[in-house]
Amino acid sequence: MPEKNSQTPQLPHTMFINGEKTPAAAGKTFPIYNPATGQELTQIPDASETDIDHAVQTSKAAFDSATWRRMPPASREHLLLKLADLIEQHTDELATLETLNQGKLIAFSKMLEVSGSVQWLRYMAGWATKIEGTTFDLSIPFPPGTRYNASTKRVPVGVVAAIVPWNFPLLMAVWKIAPALACGCTVVLKPAEETPLTAIRLAELAHEAGFPPGVFNVVTGRGETAGAALVKHPLVNKVTFTGSTEVGRIIGRQCADDLKRASLELGGKSPVIVLDDCDPKKAIEGAAGAIFFNHGQVCTAGSRLYVARSIYDEVVQGIAAVADGITLGSGFDAATQMGPMVSARHRDKVMGMIAHGKLEGGEILSRDAAVDADGFFVRPTVIANRACKPLSVVREEVFGPVLVAMPYDDIDEVLAQANASEYGLGASVWTNQLDKALRLVDGLEAGTVWVNTHNMVDPAMPFGGFKASGIGREHGKVIVDSYTESKSVCIAY
Ligand code: NAP
Ligand code: MG
Repeated sequence: MPEKNSQTPQLPHTMFINGEKTPAAAGKTFPIYNPATGQELTQIPDASETDIDHAVQTSKAAFDSATWRRMPPASREHLLLKLADLIEQHTDELATLETLNQGKLIAFSKMLEVSGSVQWLRYMAGWATKIEGTTFDLSIPFPPGTRYNASTKRVPVGVVAAIVPWNFPLLMAVWKIAPALACGCTVVLKPAEETPLTAIRLAELAHEAGFPPGVFNVVTGRGETAGAALVKHPLVNKVTFTGSTEVGRIIGRQCADDLKRASLELGGKSPVIVLDDCDPKKAIEGAAGAIFFNHGQVCTAGSRLYVARSIYDEVVQGIAAVADGITLGSGFDAATQMGPMVSARHRDKVMGMIAHGKLEGGEILSRDAAVDADGFFVRPTVIANRACKPLSVVREEVFGPVLVAMPYDDIDEVLAQANASEYGLGASVWTNQLDKALRLVDGLEAGTVWVNTHNMVDPAMPFGGFKASGIGREHGKVIVDSYTESKSVCIAY
């Protein structure tokens, strides 16, 4: 597999703190891998509490110095737009780093990670100049005769700790830093330990764009050490986290104790509901795309499929045929349709969940998921659950290319099944029957409901979860509230 060639960019291997490339104070490092070959790519700093303290102190000093938050909003906007331009100019380098380190197809690295990041930055840059408060009249003129001028203004929340997962390393980082910076906050970002390369380059490019030192820092390290130290640091005002529900609960508990602001984007087990009028070909294509996109490593992956009984066999067997036809390989190979899982540990977890699903009575319709290769591959897998048994793969997030499919007989029944999950991130409905589509849109407990599409996200469209899929919304107009505090001002005259 052509993993290393003359086009391979230099691999970043330091953190980025206070405008400088920074190793861990104790000199500790850990390896990161190319998941398509299993080979080590480089060593990355393993940040300790001391390193985290340095990054947060730096970020706090940058916030307090007010060069960033008091900068004219149009200048903050200009810098964010400049960063977007620089990212665009470094498309090939960033996409190559992402595919090397994460394993996804190079076309997706370009289109989603890099172009998506550019789009998000440009959209969020615009909010810098549109943060506003309100004025209003008070009803209690006390002491008598006093007049009041009352208003609210929105002020940046302060130092933001951003912690992101490994499935979309660059894009998830930008989802956090772009609005935080637009609102005048300063940021310490911790990428996932498996995939830190593009986040480090992002901070270097921000520096090149002219962001003041300390405004945007990147620390690398393990979740339980570096991540935990960042979350509980007393100078951090807000934690914005995307990752598993398990870790989200730990972070949420810590933030509740410290009374820190927290936004949590967590796991999912998103249902895909195919109604009986749906063209089976369209359903096969849509449902396969909903689960196999990004190798199933998507928080909104359509991992539970509910198909009207009259077309269940045709649709489910069709998806199994799609799965069996998918070519696995290096993300750099033009023939590849699906890359590896991000790590050996994750591959083993996904394989374990498939085996467990079979043991519990699921019927595997696709080829053997195991792949004899050095990389961390798992073949896309379709599990039929005709008897609607409470299999673990129906309840638990796999975060891999594994679909479990159930038949249903009527709308109320499928709605109840779809909602019988601790999660509520996304859901899709496939039909041209408007009344039924709207009944499902109304009834589904999910932060996003798609009709005749799935996994569609946009900077203007709020995104987040119901139930154990999280707290808060990203993107859109609501994002400004997430990175600002409301300050009421009351002037007597
Ligand atoms: P994860 O294990 O929860 O890790 C996410 C991030 O949190 C990583 O940077 C991780 O560091 C860090 N972390 C781990 N333990 C921590 C702790 N005790 N304190 C502070 N930080 C800690 O999730 P993942 O396996 O990387 O990503 C997959 C999960 O993300 C899935 O559940 C998926 O559904 C979810 N996700 C949700 C969304 C959404 O928007 N709702 C989007 C994408 C992914 P390490 O890398 O060192 O472990
Ligand atoms: Mg992890």
